[in-house]
Amino acid sequence: MPRAPPTGYDSSLGNKFIFVTGGVMSGLGKGITSASTGRLLKNAGLDVTAVKVDPYLNVDAGTMNPYQHGEVYVLKDGAEVDLDLGNYERFLDIDMTADHNITTGKVYQRVIEKERAGDYLGSTVQIIPHITDEIKRRIRTAAAGSDVCIVEVGGTIGDIEGMPFLEALRQFANEEDPADIIFVHVTLVPHSKNGEQKTKPTQHSVKELRSIGLQPDVVVGRCEERLEEQTKEKIALFCDVPVEAVFSNPDVEDIYHVPLTVEEEGLDRFVIDRLALADQTKPDGNTEWRELVTRETIDAIEVALVGKYALEDAYISIHEALKHAGLERAVAVDVKWVDSDAIGPNEVEQLTDVDAIVVPGGFGSRGTEGKIETIGYARRERVPYLGLCLGFQLAVVEYARNVIGWSDAHSAEIDPDTDYPVIDILPEQHDLDDLGGTMRLGAHETTIAPGTQAAAIYEANSCLERHRHRYEVNPEYIETLEAAGLSFTGRSGRRMEILELPDHPYFIGTQFHPEFRSRPGRASPPFVGLIDSVIDTPPQPHGEVEV
Ligand code: GLN
Repeated sequence: MPRAPPTGYDSSLGNKFIFVTGGVMSGLGKGITSASTGRLLKNAGLDVTAVKVDPYLNVDAGTMNPYQHGEVYVLKDGAEVDLDLGNYERFLDIDMTADHNITTGKVYQRVIEKERAGDYLGSTVQIIPHITDEIKRRIRTAAAGSDVCIVEVGGTIGDIEGMPFLEALRQFANEEDPADIIFVHVTLVPHSKNGEQKTKPTQHSVKELRSIGLQPDVVVGRCEERLEEQTKEKIALFCDVPVEAVFSNPDVEDIYHVPLTVEEEGLDRFVIDRLALADQTKPDGNTEWRELVTRETIDAIEVALVGKYALEDAYISIHEALKHAGLERAVAVDVKWVDSDAIGPNEVEQLTDVDAIVVPGGFGSRGTEGKIETIGYARRERVPYLGLCLGFQLAVVEYARNVIGWSDAHSAEIDPDTDYPVIDILPEQHDLDDLGGTMRLGAHETTIAPGTQAAAIYEANSCLERHRHRYEVNPEYIETLEAAGLSFTGRSGRRMEILELPDHPYFIGTQFHPEFRSRPGRASPPFVGLIDSVIDTPPQPHGEVEV
């Protein structure tokens, strides 16, 4: 008999919940496992959403260094969130909001604000029940309207920061109908030197989970190869789950194949049956996904990504957007990461044989000269180029320096004393003190000039893309830049959003980040345009470099 929820909660929302915890170590691909399961449920006809719980104290991911946490992903409402939300948006093809990323920072901030406002009427404010109630309230809010809500708790069982969240899930499960909730534990199953699959770490992490009152319904073993039958039996015995509830999630080459590998062992059907959703689902919904992600590719092209973080996760959405565009055109895209610090006036060897170049977003001065050098190379040698945010801004700087001749032109972010601040701070950003959540963020509409390359790429006269920036093209220089041949073909009021070079095979810069809206099966237009320009244009002999 489920316990009554605290007053004010409607436990009959009609949602089902999949609570996902992680064992042994982080970085196991818990998010991909969860998102893949979600995709299978979506393919079965269910409306699926997700919540990512990040137990760190930061209010959001906006102030975090990409080296520690990978890219900061931006949602359409402007929330700066953990990159796992990008995976959920891509796998589930949904748009999420700030409510779908719950952090310790957000939870405590709200409880402390309420305490200051006197809302707790004199009671002692405590982790249980005040913090746990706030966590449950947020989960219910984010789940509203969906058939199934996946709640992934970041980190690993045993982390101090995760405790209040796990306690909240325990209470939550008591308040709801047991048929509405399933606990999935994703854990590591390593193998010994002689190739034997070892279950001890899994046993320990489940023991830890049970010591805080949570019993998993399903155990998913991340492993190099599929779990052997006897490994499953051992996990079942020691972790007190039926052997049919133990699933493998072996390594695969492409994350979009994970739904296919977990489907093979029936994880989706198990979850559907256990949550009593069989009546609402249709069989064989996976054909379209399978065809999309296993599409045969004809050719491989190489795209240089010239950035400053030697970490794939720092640019994960760009990698994915390139992959989606490749899927759309049935070409394999190999991304060559190039350290912008290693590019100099006579040091562009790393770029001489690539088919296209992307300069991503970024902050601060490190690596900017190398990026400007890269952009000049792409412009002169007619190599297809896509510049994103900082990559757009530096394309303006490069043009101002090398075509107009303002040799010290720069972005005021990087050189506040330049005589030609062609990129300058957004006027409303001048007097801000706080760095968190204060940039120009989220979806803003861009108007695209008809008859331009941008209009051809988007096949539209406007687009709605996501932003994350503090600087912009300085309005004082627009006329001169345009007179010199740089076209701003996308604008949002007085703001320059898209640039292009009319006589170049493909030279596009966007102030926004189109990579955040790219999905498998719905690739982002500027990325598809980049791939098209490579396929359509015979390879250019761009070996010789003029300086
Ligand atoms: N640093 C630049 C700005 O704040 C570019 C931001 C970005 O690339 N996301 O405007």
